[in-house]
Amino acid sequence: MSGGGDRSPAGGTLAEQPLEERIRALGLALGLDALGFAGPEPTARTEFLRDWIARGYAGEMDYLERRIEERIDPRRVLPGVRTLIVGALACAPADGPALEPEGRGIVARYAGGDDYHDVLLDRLRALEAALPALAGRPVRSRCYVDTGPVAEKAAAEQAGLGWIAKNTCLIHPELGSNLMLGVVLCDLELAQDGAGTDHCGSCRACLDACPTDAFPEPYVLDATRCLSYTTIELRGAIPESLRAAQGDRVFGCDVCQTVCPWNRSRPRGPLADPLGLRTRLAPREIWRAPSLAWLLALDEEDFLAATRGTALRRSRRLGLLRNALVAAGNAGLPSLRPLVARHAEGDDVILREHALWALEQIDARAAAGA
Ligand code: SF4
Ligand code: SF4
Repeated sequence: MSGGGDRSPAGGTLAEQPLEERIRALGLALGLDALGFAGPEPTARTEFLRDWIARGYAGEMDYLERRIEERIDPRRVLPGVRTLIVGALACAPADGPALEPEGRGIVARYAGGDDYHDVLLDRLRALEAALPALAGRPVRSRCYVDTGPVAEKAAAEQAGLGWIAKNTCLIHPELGSNLMLGVVLCDLELAQDGAGTDHCGSCRACLDACPTDAFPEPYVLDATRCLSYTTIELRGAIPESLRAAQGDRVFGCDVCQTVCPWNRSRPRGPLADPLGLRTRLAPREIWRAPSLAWLLALDEEDFLAATRGTALRRSRRLGLLRNALVAAGNAGLPSLRPLVARHAEGDDVILREHALWALEQIDARAAAGA
């Protein structure tokens, strides 16, 4: 941005605008789709985390509990923090048929492109680096994109970027919920935007569509039943009771967002992408509908090459193979049997058990003449 003559959207030179607007303008110029300001105090949303974990809904995500006090109160993360600057970047919503062609797996929309942590963190760090110049004084700050003890969705709601919906996603009224969120904590006293308003109304499409019944009540997710947890976060065996519902998904699940009316229409058409950020987030060809046969044969070297720079690394190869075995069992295709059988004789106890389960499904389908 050059000095002096830059005009802000609201008129006048940028230098004449309040600090909040100059930070917002820079965030948008850096490629963020929305940016808001929230206070650092704990809220009912962050306090709810404690209750949610106590109910056992966090499963094995121990890291959530380890730094729970910081998650609830950002002032414990950065003493002297006055404002949470929350940035959102929208990726293109999931499209295409809900079920992929036979023998192919489904990967959550956000995961098949460049890792959103890297894409968004890079933007927020640039914003963070500019704060001292914009404020005209040194600024103490920290920046996180799922990388620290910060409740990003709660902060985004407080910053006016939308509301935490019945499916527990943050929905922005114009951008929908296919959002990547990040937070800059800083010691600048900035005017807060005010919390977003809930627009779920009487809708319950997400609750009804969830294949695993993972919502014990609206606005509450039991992560231990959610496919985004069982296929990504969970390191051990996927509970048998959830395997059929996994269908052909091999990494994450988009169902409760795909069915949401706030993601279905974008009145102003597709979002522009002047900096190519959305293009970077879009799934690479290899991950649009990966063949289960290919996944089942992945060795470590192939896995590392295919997942380089993506969030798919999080599942590790064994996790992805485990997921692919469940998808293969659900597909019931005899052509996959030899690939599945190899894992039934391998060294890994988790893969062996999932392979035996998948063989049972394939054989049962064959016996039934399907
Ligand atoms: S991501 Fe899928 S499994 Fe998880 S709550 Fe949403 S619809 Fe249910
Ligand atoms: S599907 Fe309906 S209830 Fe669920 S998040 Fe969207 S608007 Fe809210």
